[in-house]
Amino acid sequence: MEEKNIYKDAIDKWGETAQLDQIVEEMAELTLAISKYKRQFNNSLLDYQKQGVMENLYTEIADVKLMIEEMEFMFGVNNVQKAYDKQLKKFKMELYTEEK
Ligand SMILES: [Mg+2]
Repeated sequence: MEEKNIYKDAIDKWGETAQLDQIVEEMAELTLAISKYKRQFNNSLLDYQKQGVMENLYTEIADVKLMIEEMEFMFGVNNVQKAYDKQLKKFKMELYTEEK
């Protein structure tokens, strides 16, 4: 049986514009989750609240990971991979090049 492409199905069902809006929303949710994660060290949250902050962070990372895969489908896996390789190389250069 042919494996379903969930990203094609999502775009077919809800449309590309709605999916792009969803991607922007998910990235904003991750931004918020990171802020809350950072803030938890500055105040005295109870353990169950800290757990909630962490679970929210994991969820939002997962949402964005899914959305990134959907964007790879939308804009071309090979195009993104080429840019990724280039950016990874640049990142490593910056990381490992000694400052003079
Ligand atoms: Mg989300």
